[in-house]
Order: sequence, then structure tokens, then C-alpha cells
Amino acid sequence: ISKIAVLTSGGDAPGMNSCIRAVVRTAIYNNLQVSGIKQGYQGMIDNDMYDMDPRSVSNILSLGGTILKTARCMAFHTDEGMEIAYQNLKKQGIEGLVVIGGDGTFTGALRFSKKYPDIAVIGVPGTIDNDLYGSTYTLGFDTATNTVIDAIDKIRDTADAHDRLFFIEVMGRDSGAIALRAGISCGAEAIMLPEKATAIDDLISSLKDGELNKKSSSIVIVAEGDKNGGVYDIAQTVKKEVTNYDIKVTILGHLQRGGSPSAFDRILGSRLGFAAVNALIAGESQKMVGLQANTIVLTSLEEALNQHEFKLEEDLLLMADVLSI
Ligand code: ATP
Repeated sequence: ISKIAVLTSGGDAPGMNSCIRAVVRTAIYNNLQVSGIKQGYQGMIDNDMYDMDPRSVSNILSLGGTILKTARCMAFHTDEGMEIAYQNLKKQGIEGLVVIGGDGTFTGALRFSKKYPDIAVIGVPGTIDNDLYGSTYTLGFDTATNTVIDAIDKIRDTADAHDRLFFIEVMGRDSGAIALRAGISCGAEAIMLPEKATAIDDLISSLKDGELNKKSSSIVIVAEGDKNGGVYDIAQTVKKEVTNYDIKVTILGHLQRGGSPSAFDRILGSRLGFAAVNALIAGESQKMVGLQANTIVLTSLEEALNQHEFKLEEDLLLMADVLSI
């Protein structure tokens, strides 16, 4: 292998830049040429790519987002789009691809590499949702959780001052990973998760217990994907029953995606990028690199994508309940 390329795709996640930097420098250290593809798979189709050198990735470790930009590219879903992308890679002499993204990105990469096996692909799990099989942590999850914690701590101050009950929606359409970690870290009175339905009646009775136990404020964290109809509906229903508190709703939204990556994500991005290039050099393809028990592990993309059942840790769920009395 003599030339590889790197792209970021799907939702951006803090730490992607540390991974791009590691890919570029590991490649060049090993005498490979390396191209940066802009806007995910869109840049493969538009031939929007450029040669990178060690200085192309100077001073990006502290930046959120991704210097290569990211996109959701519908054209890559079609055979015609994939063919154009393939021809563009061939013209550039690219033989290996590092794709940083979530399960959609991996699905596209696997389809592409099965169609065109002369292009090797290695996936790096980059999504704040922490919902990929094969890696205990995904790139961006730690930073996003810290950002959420910082925001909720600030809300707690005002909630406490006014005897308020806050419902706070955090990101996670299918995954309660951020909600659970943030809930434990901020002492949330309740955490509503897509993976584990909380009945509204149970929520109401635990909030009433909180009133009896003289809690001066209460915080309920609701993951986007919770099945009770959304944060506003939940707040409305609770308002009829829990009358001692003034009830407020906050949706944290896209601020959760931004910001300077944490130490953990910078190191994880570096490790995964370094490992991805070494995997390409070793002749691997159709695999993802992940972190398990603090060790880099390769998992086939096929297996990673088929294992949809990503479970939250039972001990954390139980502990969150116990510690919120
Ligand atoms: P996140 O989980 O953070 O949203 P993601 O990688 O899952 O990240 P998606 O938007 O689902 O984000 O996928 C990213 C891109 O991958 C899509 O815009 C598309 O270009 C490509 N892709 C997804 N699914 C397929 C598919 N079945 N075939 C080809 N390409 C696909």
C-alpha cells in the first residue's frame, strides 16, 4: 500500500481532529502518501480531496468539529455514486481508506469495499452517542458528556435557588449513554432512557418522594429517544401531579456536539487513528478499530454492524436509582 485517504462522515464529534492528525502523521512516518477527503463521502464523489503533510494537521488537537468537514451524502447510497467515488480514488492512486463516523458511515464503507475490494477500508468509531459495538467508548462521547455535565451543573444552581423542577433533554435518539453518565455525574433525580422505559407514574411517585424528602430542586434528564412522547409532554403530565415545584424545560441541543475535546478524546482519537493506519499497512480491511479494556481491538465491520443490541451497564442503571433517593 502506498497511498491512503481519510474522511469524517455523519455527525461530527469532538476528537475527530486528533484522529485525522494521527492518521496523517502515522501514514507519513511509514512513507505512505495521505489524502484528506472533504465532506465525507460527498468529497469522494466530487473529487474534493487534497494531499496532506505533517504540517496540514498542526495545532488542531484542541479544535472541536473536523477540519475535513462532514456531510450526509445521499448520492453514496446509489451504485452510480459509488462508482464515481471509486473512479476518483483510483485516479488519485488511493488504495486504503480510513473512515471516521458512526454506523451509517460504516454501512457505506462496508458496501463500498465489498463492491471494490481493491480499496481497503478501516472504520474509526466517531460519534458522541457511544452506541457502536466493538469499542467501549466512541470518539466524542467523553467530551459531550462533560459538556452536558457543565450545563446541568449551571441549571442545578438556578433550580436550587428557586425550588424548581427541571426537565433537561440531552442528545441520544437511540442511545441513553450520555443521559445515564450525565445523570450519575450531576445527581439527577431521574433519568429517562430509550433503552429502558420509565413509566410516567413511576416518575411522578419518585418526584413526590423527593418532595417529601425535602429536596430543594429536582432534575430529570430525558434522552431525545425516550419513548414517553418528548420532554415537553412529560413535563406537562408531571405538572398536573407535582405541584410544589415550578417546572421548567431545557433542551441542550447542538451545544453538546461542540467544544474542545477532553484529554480522553484526544488520546482516544490519537490511538484509534494510529491503529487504523497500522491496520491498513498490515493488510487489514473491512474492520473497525476500537478500545476494549484499554486495548486496541479490531472487529469486523460486518460484526460491528450486526450487533445492534448495545446495552447500557446494568450496574450503572441500578446505582443511579439508589444514589438519587
Ligand atoms: P452519526 O451516528 O453520528 O449520525 P453516522 O455515520 O451513523 O453518524 P449517517 O448519516 O447515518 O451518520 O451516515 C453517514 C453517511 O454514510 C451517509 O450520509 C451516507 O453517505 C453514508 N451511508 C449511510 N448508510 C449507507 C448505505 N446503506 N449505503 C451507502 N452509504 C451509506
